[in-house]
Amino acid sequence: MAYSDVARASFASEIETIKGKGLYKEKRFIRSPQDAEITVEYPEGAAEEKVLNFCANNYLGLSSHPEVIAAAHEGLDSRGYGMSSVRFICGTQDIHRELQDRLTDFLGTEDTLLFPSCMDANAGVFEAILGPEDVIIADRLIHASLVDGIRLCSAQYDTFKHMNMKHLEKKLQLHQDKRHRLVVTDGVFSMDGDLFPLDEAVALCESYDAMILLDDSHATGVIGKTGRGVHEHFGVVGKIDVITTTLGKALGGASGGCVAGRKELVELCRQKARPYLFSNSLSPVITAASIKVLDIITKTTERRDKLEANTKYFREKITAAGLNVRPGETPIVPVMLYNAKLASDMARDMYAEGIYVIGFSFPVVPNGQARIRVQLSAAHEFGHIERCVVAFAKVGDSYGIL
Ligand SMILES: *Cc1c(COP(=O)(O)O)cnc(C)c1O
Repeated sequence: MAYSDVARASFASEIETIKGKGLYKEKRFIRSPQDAEITVEYPEGAAEEKVLNFCANNYLGLSSHPEVIAAAHEGLDSRGYGMSSVRFICGTQDIHRELQDRLTDFLGTEDTLLFPSCMDANAGVFEAILGPEDVIIADRLIHASLVDGIRLCSAQYDTFKHMNMKHLEKKLQLHQDKRHRLVVTDGVFSMDGDLFPLDEAVALCESYDAMILLDDSHATGVIGKTGRGVHEHFGVVGKIDVITTTLGKALGGASGGCVAGRKELVELCRQKARPYLFSNSLSPVITAASIKVLDIITKTTERRDKLEANTKYFREKITAAGLNVRPGETPIVPVMLYNAKLASDMARDMYAEGIYVIGFSFPVVPNGQARIRVQLSAAHEFGHIERCVVAFAKVGDSYGIL
């Protein structure tokens, strides 16, 4: 057998193993812009259908907003399509600087550096600022991109139990002999919708001379009275050493991310962070549209307020319908099913009812914690939410779980 056939057989067998465990991710094609209602081709080759979308990170409904699209066109016309360069060679335009300054204002930090994505921001930040004499102390449920970024850096690594401040304090005490301590957490955890108790963590960091890194990707634009994030919600704006976040969720949903924080720390990233040095600049189209997004959400909190109202409405209605949701206040609402097959069967039946949601099971969530994760958007109307709840009640009833 040719070696290429040996390799092919080995990969094919691994794919079969994934399928055998019920973890295979099917292809799904959307044939419309991202919105509350989308046109979907699923399964592949099937006739397209209109469904209500309850699984996008389009929290503020800005992904296809006419003013954002117009700003993207304007950016294309005035600054071109691509930069064909990394930032530090010839890939930084005036609008990149403007967007960085606007993010600095919005996030309440001293400086901001754009990256191609938040995954890239997380891949670059740790190695740029920490060395072997330092320690990272991370919440046990941090996002995969933070885990990967931490792997790329030579600092020592320790964890604390999810959102457990007593345990964090113990770990901070344990690591007083290190040069720098950096506590790392998500602001909103994407699978549970939990809000990290940032005010308590900041107080601990102050008592034990530690820095804190907040990945606020699911919170920027959404959480806090004016949508600045989890630090606004807990009244600790200005006290976060470094925030990483994405432009790929609430802030228009195209792509891009940033490291925002203390001036010298951001400057070190500008000098050393590898995805900043070795990956291409954010397109002028996205850069210009992102500035417009910040215009829109700083002028009025209408969208973030509507999202909050939609979230309350959904949480009340779905609970009244007899489904078991994880309590909380974020627009991530896990409908708990505890069984992987049930989660994927129910998601399939929900699709037949015109509601697009996805079941999550191990290893994305712990074993025995399977669920359908519902995400609300300011693009939803109460009528959409009612249809989603009615479908959950019907499908849930058919499986006898109400
Ligand atoms: C989505 C997400 C990311 C990745 O953001 P991209 O800009 O899409 O790379 C990073 N961290 C967290 C916590 C996220 O939820």
